[in-house]
Amino acid sequence: MRPEILNPLFAGSDTLKGVGPKLEKPLDRLGLTRVRDFVFHLPERFIDRRVIANLDEATVGENVVVELTPTQYRASRSGRGPFNVMATDAIGNVVSLTYFGRASFSAKKSLPLNEKRWVAGRIDQYGDMLQIVHPDHVEEAGSAALATTCEPVYALSEGLTQNRLIAMIEQALGEVPDLPEWIEPSQLEKRQWPAWRDALILAHRGPHKAARDRLAYDELFASALALMLVKADNRRRKGVPLRSDGRLRDRLKLPFELTGAQKRSVSEIEGDLAQNHPMLRLLQGDVGSGKTAVALHAMLIAVESGAQAAMLAPTEILARQHYETLVEMARGTGIEIAVLTGRDKGKARESILMGLLDGSIDVIVGTHAIFQDSVAYRNLALVVIDEQHRFGVNQRLLLQQKARGTAHCLAMTATPIPRTLTLAQYGEMEVSKLDELPPGRQPIDTRVVPTERMGDVVGALRRHVGEEKQAYWVCPMVREHETEDIAAAEERFETLRAALGEQAVTMVHGQLPADVKDANMARFASGEVAVLVATTVIEVGVNVPNASLMVIEQAERFGLAQLHQLRGRVGRGAEKSVCLLLRGDALSETGRERLALMRETQDGFRLAEEDLRLRGGGEILGTRQSGEQAFELATPEQITELLEVAHDDARLLMERDGGLTASRGEAARIALYLFERDYGVQLLRGG
Ligand code: ADP
Ligand code: MG
Repeated sequence: MRPEILNPLFAGSDTLKGVGPKLEKPLDRLGLTRVRDFVFHLPERFIDRRVIANLDEATVGENVVVELTPTQYRASRSGRGPFNVMATDAIGNVVSLTYFGRASFSAKKSLPLNEKRWVAGRIDQYGDMLQIVHPDHVEEAGSAALATTCEPVYALSEGLTQNRLIAMIEQALGEVPDLPEWIEPSQLEKRQWPAWRDALILAHRGPHKAARDRLAYDELFASALALMLVKADNRRRKGVPLRSDGRLRDRLKLPFELTGAQKRSVSEIEGDLAQNHPMLRLLQGDVGSGKTAVALHAMLIAVESGAQAAMLAPTEILARQHYETLVEMARGTGIEIAVLTGRDKGKARESILMGLLDGSIDVIVGTHAIFQDSVAYRNLALVVIDEQHRFGVNQRLLLQQKARGTAHCLAMTATPIPRTLTLAQYGEMEVSKLDELPPGRQPIDTRVVPTERMGDVVGALRRHVGEEKQAYWVCPMVREHETEDIAAAEERFETLRAALGEQAVTMVHGQLPADVKDANMARFASGEVAVLVATTVIEVGVNVPNASLMVIEQAERFGLAQLHQLRGRVGRGAEKSVCLLLRGDALSETGRERLALMRETQDGFRLAEEDLRLRGGGEILGTRQSGEQAFELATPEQITELLEVAHDDARLLMERDGGLTASRGEAARIALYLFERDYGVQLLRGG
């Protein structure tokens, strides 16, 4: 149970004044569903404003607060142009307050003629006229909104304004309780950090580094502590050692020899499985490094010892593909493999459930449907979780917990993350690395192409398809701009169909119903359709070796890690593959550098390290677009700076008070709940 003191923070957003059904969607897009989410939605930056007596004191581009008197309204004749309110300052300077869109009504209301108003906004010049476009505030004298000369700027989504959000966050901050201190007193002293509640409020008031650092530290501390609790719990747990004789693996006829890295990983896993406490191991390997073959070996070890194995995939498409791959690979071993997803119903599902219960199914592949309460196993000894990063740290640990009981757990991820982050995200696990690609892979020819050359790109696609080869066409999609992005993807789909023929192109994106998505994907995978237009849903593990061209639109909008994952979908067959990164013309220096890096290297780990250096580490975590970010507050810099300290402090606390029962331990429990790492606490109770 969550400590009562946190209840106000976990109240729903509808308890805030002014949050009605209309705002639900925009708020949801930003992940703002509970009071705590609002207070953790820290400003992206601050606007510094200066109060001035008249416009002679201002420079163009400056943010000011100035007293003005509206003198005249000017609407354009067509009614389509901007609406202007002409106003004068104390010494007769004229400025135009300019509103676009249908804003004349509200502008007239807040700026009545010949009445003094305080106006806050940025001074611009339009022709020889001073202008303020959409003033941030228009208030009567003495308004509180003008008292802050340092104003926060928050990330927004469609349908939400800065002022609305500020008002909601202010309200949410009013609900914040004082919490007991979980930071070691000496640490607090040394860093001069404010108490938690003070830090939170300061972080919204101005650029306070100490306040921000403390909040980030808290998050890193809670995360480290939770992972340690998982690890400690695992050490206490009794597992079933798997003793295998290799008889099934001997019968395996793979069309290739395992790489050195694969062999090493298999033997590390075999060693873990023979222990009498459950394995908790992460298999980290770049796209195409051959994780599936390693997973198969691990699962065969389980079956050899008379037990069952399960493999969990993040999507339906991937589960079915794994099923087919595994059946193909394991042919000759005589084991029974089945697939189960949320879509399997009725008799088919019943018979799989029976097979799992009576042990006639040795290996099950599926989505999280395989861990529903109604699914019982005769003797489940190994759980493999594929594309682990897709699940997010929280979800993953919950799944793991639910899945394993005493079972061994092998997690696999293709997200290359820098070393510091491995500790932060997977601190509870042992790590095996596939740092070697199977031989004979051809490098992917990667080119950066300006969007103006779209015509040439479509031409190249047409030639490619003419040679009976397949291609991916990827459009960006971020949750905050979902509607626009989907519209853009649909439009591209139509233009490509017009160019290549209706039958040649299909599409998958997140808003399509699951069965349509699967059917379209299946037609592409079977080779029936040549081109797949997709938003990033293909990022995860899909394998179509005949696809040897990938076009990525607005490549600058993707994170490096994501581009790398996407690119990994091609270069899987014998054919030489090409990846075209289309870029817009307004590319920043960093953007340029990042795309150049993509051209230069195919080493996922190098890309991850470089991406961290070029900032934007949130993307490295590979989860920004999948909704679940590993850290809400800590930035890449803060992770680099504070993670080790937080980690050490958590370890110290564990050594002194592993049951978290003393007063600091109790406070730390609150931190775990606050950051939703409470699976750690649940383990305490269970153990
Ligand atoms: P990932 O690590 O991205 O999940 P996969 O397991 O899908 O990679 O493997 C990618 C491709 O490489 C598959 O077609 C697989 O059959 C092939 N492969 C795996 N191991 C080897 C190997 N040792 N030699 C040659 N090909 C291999
Ligand atoms: Mg894979």
